[in-house]
Amino acid sequence: SDRLELVNPSEIRKLFDLAQGVEGLISLGIGEPDFDTPEHIKEYAKEALDRGMTHYGPNAGLMMLREALAWKLKEQNGIEVDPKTQVMVTVGANQALLMGLAAFLKDGEEVLIPSPMFVSYAPAVILAGGKPVEVPTYEENEFRLSVDDLKKHVSEKTRALIINTPNNPTGAVLTKKDLEEIADFAVEHDLIVFSDEVYEHFVYDGARNHSIASLDGMFERTITINGFSKTFAMTGWRLGFVAAPAWIIERMTRFQMYNSTCPVTFAQYAAAKGLQDERSWEAVEEMRREYERRRNLVWKRLNEMGLPTVKPKGAFYIFPRIRDTGLTGKEFSELMLLEAKVAVVPGSAFGSAGEGYIRISYATAYEQLEEAMDRMEKVLREKKL
Ligand code: PMP
Repeated sequence: SDRLELVNPSEIRKLFDLAQGVEGLISLGIGEPDFDTPEHIKEYAKEALDRGMTHYGPNAGLMMLREALAWKLKEQNGIEVDPKTQVMVTVGANQALLMGLAAFLKDGEEVLIPSPMFVSYAPAVILAGGKPVEVPTYEENEFRLSVDDLKKHVSEKTRALIINTPNNPTGAVLTKKDLEEIADFAVEHDLIVFSDEVYEHFVYDGARNHSIASLDGMFERTITINGFSKTFAMTGWRLGFVAAPAWIIERMTRFQMYNSTCPVTFAQYAAAKGLQDERSWEAVEEMRREYERRRNLVWKRLNEMGLPTVKPKGAFYIFPRIRDTGLTGKEFSELMLLEAKVAVVPGSAFGSAGEGYIRISYATAYEQLEEAMDRMEKVLREKKL
């Protein structure tokens, strides 16, 4: 279709193609946990299969999972939902984004997206018939979105705003005060807010992630998107979920009915059981602690090798400035790929505000990260960059 013509394969894919055949490569390009799904959650999936859960389920997701999600959203996010009408299960957070946008967006309406941004946002807006509008965020403000930035890009046609905290690719975490200001802005301009919180549990230095939908008057205009991919290291299970007003959930469910029909039934059973099992949250805390240890290492090493880097407060990415080397993000990434055998992603893959930066994922073993930092430092020294 015409819309698909406007959506190009992501820059990350292109780099992965180039990386094929580089021997001894350490990839810091990946955007998924290097941990396995906790054993007991896998056991629950096997149990579901043994119990014959091999058929279609309800379009909005299994009731037992929606009920478990309602409990989780109340306990952890301060969001109260009716499991029958205000929450649904999706095939990953990614699909939820497209379905959520398609639920209300009219052709040509604009969606504000803080940049650098997760690679799916602009394509999802385009596929849903809207127009993505980049709102640059700045290193000076730790890449946190501010209302002053938003004000410069809002127009008569703006219908929605996407926020992502903790952020991919910068690791920025919005404070409660940031969210309150953004909420006021959304009310003032009558915007629907997408809040992508897939990294909510991976926050550091004692920071906490807040959900904008929990603020006064925000639930009715917020589509909270989340999933199991990062939290329980379940990227391959393709399970996401959404909390939103009933009219949005009803429309998204209609989309899902004619698209994927429903998420995988036995995976949903395992997720529902997993949510209510203490061992899952212990596993999350273990992963969080390990990510924080890695973040500390990579942040220190990058700054020491002369790449000025903001200390990220969340997710598992770090976004060093490479502009001062005189190279573009693409040139820098290619140099590291070929000379250091380390794969990183040019910041421009995440929108124009990412030029002059690279993204490093630290969802890789600590020893591998140490080795990667040694190699990068050596190349920078040899090339006098
Ligand atoms: N949102 C963000 C910010 C992400 O980084 C990702 C995955 N990299 C997703 C959504 C998609 O997650 P899922 O696997 O649930 O589709």
